[in-house]
Amino acid sequence: MKISVDTGSCVSSGQCVLLAPGTFDQDEEDGTVVLLAEEPSDGEEAVRQAELTCPAAAIRLSGT
Ligand code: SF4
Repeated sequence: MKISVDTGSCVSSGQCVLLAPGTFDQDEEDGTVVLLAEEPSDGEEAVRQAELTCPAAAIRLSGT
């Protein structure tokens, strides 16, 4: 599984950070998503939940 994020679509809700804090972080200035790892370090299920929960559909998973 490869993870990518669209920072232009991100609305800084922070759901992904709550669900998978080892994979996602938020920018200190504007809260947009920061991808910490292209491979899921929190387990694939946590990253899938983050993708499903993201209100902006800004998280993309490939190779699943
Ligand atoms: S859940 Fe989506 S909108 Fe919220 S911070 Fe993460 S990528 Fe951005």
